[in-house]
Amino acid sequence: MTTIHAPLKDVSSSDNAAPFEDVLRQAYEKAIAYLAGLDTAAVGATADLSTLRRQLGRPLAEQGIAAEQVIADLVADVEGGLTGSAGGRFFGWVIGGAVPAAVAADWLTAAWDQNAAVYATSPAASVVEEVAGGWLKEILGLPAGASFALVSGCQMAHVTALAAARHFVLAQCGWDLEQQGLSGAPEIRILASDQRHASVARALRLLGFGRAQVVDIQTDGMSRVEPEALEGALLEKPGAPTIVVLQAGDINTGACDAFETLVPMARAHGAWVHVDGAFGLWAAASGKYRNLVRGVEGADSWATDGHKWLNVPHDCGYTFVAHPEAHRAAMSNNTSYVTYVAEARNEMEWNPEWSRRARGFATYAALRQLGREGVSALVERCSVHAKSLGTRIGALPGAELMREPVLNQALVRFLDSRPGAGEAEHAKRTDEVIAAIAATGEAFFTGSTWKGHRVMRISVSSWRTTEEDVERVVRAVEGVLRG
Ligand SMILES: *Cc1c(COP(=O)(O)O)cnc(C)c1O
Repeated sequence: MTTIHAPLKDVSSSDNAAPFEDVLRQAYEKAIAYLAGLDTAAVGATADLSTLRRQLGRPLAEQGIAAEQVIADLVADVEGGLTGSAGGRFFGWVIGGAVPAAVAADWLTAAWDQNAAVYATSPAASVVEEVAGGWLKEILGLPAGASFALVSGCQMAHVTALAAARHFVLAQCGWDLEQQGLSGAPEIRILASDQRHASVARALRLLGFGRAQVVDIQTDGMSRVEPEALEGALLEKPGAPTIVVLQAGDINTGACDAFETLVPMARAHGAWVHVDGAFGLWAAASGKYRNLVRGVEGADSWATDGHKWLNVPHDCGYTFVAHPEAHRAAMSNNTSYVTYVAEARNEMEWNPEWSRRARGFATYAALRQLGREGVSALVERCSVHAKSLGTRIGALPGAELMREPVLNQALVRFLDSRPGAGEAEHAKRTDEVIAAIAATGEAFFTGSTWKGHRVMRISVSSWRTTEEDVERVVRAVEGVLRG
């Protein structure tokens, strides 16, 4: 007979810890050195693709090596290939930093190596998610009875919430999606902001909806859905199963849809309203910015991120659903060998993964370190810095502020000063300036094409950004524009 488990020998705790001690201490030292160097290192990556492939592309070895050597090599070989998103002068995409307690909790999550699949696989992970989910609803002003899931990001938050939506609107037509599948089902209409994030389109695709099922709803100059456009689309097919997708925080303008008007309008037509609030939903955490998302709590589902504005390390997203039964019906997967503890939270009933990281620990830690006041202050500070960066950079010679900054996003572009220069020349100039700023190493921004214009996006979503950072960045951009 072969034994599956080696017989347990009598190990002292230090024997258990010994293989980890040196390597974890080394990781700690390297991490601290990295964080300490953020102020002086280039903000963008400096190594090119071929360099990184050369540094990291070793042949797969026959023989393993010491853990400490692996880590020493890793740290040396990623040199130049990390972006400074953990620092205060990184404004590309919408990335967010990570607060210390959340980083530390994330390290422990790895050391504890819990599988947060169900309560039985890690009771503490389950209860931490239960608590963190409740806190998140409170801080975001969402209904206390909403169900939730901690997923990898807003992308999967969309998939989860829209799966619940799909179940719900079909059930209303008497169609059992889990039994009958999509083929032959009543056609669902998706009415979505024409400025929707690409992750919404991908979530829909994964759920079996093609481009033909999505109706673009026109937006205004700030990328907000036009109420008349939504009303018109709703009236086109009365009674058809419908999902409306709105957004809190447009990735370009930062603007939020007029939920107070749009949500009741869509609900009156029997539609499910899903909100993409990847970063913008966090406006609800601040008394000063809450008015931007007034009425959002009336929606049917919400998707947001922990790894963006809450400053939890990657990856971490949240989904919330006002109809827990639809949410559970779409995700639940009870089989005989999964041990469900009925009265506890079994994460698998709410999220699309089976085995998974215990994401709750880092979220729990971030919310405890910041508190309600800290989250509110983070939202307000980032927004003030975004406004200041947008208006000050936009006022420099050769620059233009495209829109009054909203929340933590601002948009500027750079103009080709030659007579007769048009859209194409300004676009080229804008991309050149973005690259030149990155080349200084002082700051990092990314570009976007917004309503026909090439623009530089300014997104401030890290607790690390200070007023001194803003000064330093404006000086750097000024230097680039002076040439
Ligand atoms: C970032 C973002 C997403 C996608 O979120 P991930 O966390 O990257 O999956 C969706 N919508 C908006 C508005 C975003 O900013």
